[in-house]
Amino acid sequence: MMTTNTLGLYLHVPFCAAKCRYCDFHSAPAGAELRVAYVTALCRHIAFMAKRAEGYTVDTLYIGGGTPTLLGAKPLVGILDTVRKHYRVAADAEITVECNPVTNAAGLFEGLRAAGVNRLSIGLQSAIDAELSLLGRAHTRTDFERTLAAARAAGFDNISADIMLGIPDQTRESLGETLDFLLGADLSHISAYCLRVEEGTPFFRMRDTLALPTDDTVADMQEQAAAILKKAGYTHYEVSNYARAGRESRHNLRYWKCAPYLGFGPAAHSYFEGVRFAAPRHTAGYIDAVTAGDFDRLVIDAAVITPHEAREEYVMLGMRLFAGVDEQEFAARFGAAFTDIYGTIDHYVAAGLLTRENGRIAFTERGMLVSNAILSEWLDFGEDT
Ligand code: SF4
Repeated sequence: MMTTNTLGLYLHVPFCAAKCRYCDFHSAPAGAELRVAYVTALCRHIAFMAKRAEGYTVDTLYIGGGTPTLLGAKPLVGILDTVRKHYRVAADAEITVECNPVTNAAGLFEGLRAAGVNRLSIGLQSAIDAELSLLGRAHTRTDFERTLAAARAAGFDNISADIMLGIPDQTRESLGETLDFLLGADLSHISAYCLRVEEGTPFFRMRDTLALPTDDTVADMQEQAAAILKKAGYTHYEVSNYARAGRESRHNLRYWKCAPYLGFGPAAHSYFEGVRFAAPRHTAGYIDAVTAGDFDRLVIDAAVITPHEAREEYVMLGMRLFAGVDEQEFAARFGAAFTDIYGTIDHYVAAGLLTRENGRIAFTERGMLVSNAILSEWLDFGEDT
């Protein structure tokens, strides 16, 4: 069980071998010199923040990006050593590293395993090479297979893969092929995100020429993925996430349960002691600030979360989970019953959109598809009342 004195750490690695056409994350190709300077800065920042986290035990640690594995094993192990040196890390902490099938360096996974990494998240996106190429991904389906085999040989048994729904030219048949491939890979966790064409990306500029599936087709694809994965024994525990029993992402659950976490690196977000804040989205600026010892520059958009906002966030994020919101926990946290605040939910239960069982209020699969409409009826998104 998550208690208030546990903490998650997110460490951002803003480098990629090449930029995918749809990607809006803060990441870019970089030479060796910048990568070395970045790791040094990241470690200094991690050490600097340790004093503030003294009363906490780190029980989830997530190295994401970007493509963290592009750094190679030694720098990643160095980062982990820095965390362990300065923070109390739980013996059973979940330690995840994201990897891209294109960075399959010899010895990488053995090194990570020996350093205590116990979970990998591999970006597959599609098992169809033509779709991967359209996305601008630098890997093929075979690269993924090779990476997975190398990870398993190194002893990893908790492995997640990401796939994407709504890829240009994707059809229900091609998605079916990707899902079949995933089932054959026997992973412990699968994330299935819908592609969004973000401003500033090559896809945004190409948007009029892309054969994007319609919203209805993407909704069908979501239902298709849910049906197939659930039939294969995965629990659909969050809108876009599926897990084998006990293999839910403990780190991501922190975000959805409004538990504290500290983010390190450019564009990383934090939620710590009731304040949400971010770091500027600029890698060179990040290194400069750390080198100058000017850590204040690494905190932007700081917002003290009011009790009202905390309640709204708790509902908005918690209802993304199919386990929903625990009524007792809600009342203890916010001093009033869920239905006293949001009104009766009986009509939604009768309509098969919500369940109210075992002290929890949760969306059904069908309810999740219209969750935005129901949430906007409940929430005023930050306006203090
Ligand atoms: S590998 Fe991931 S982070 Fe890097 S460019 Fe592609 S989608 Fe973005």
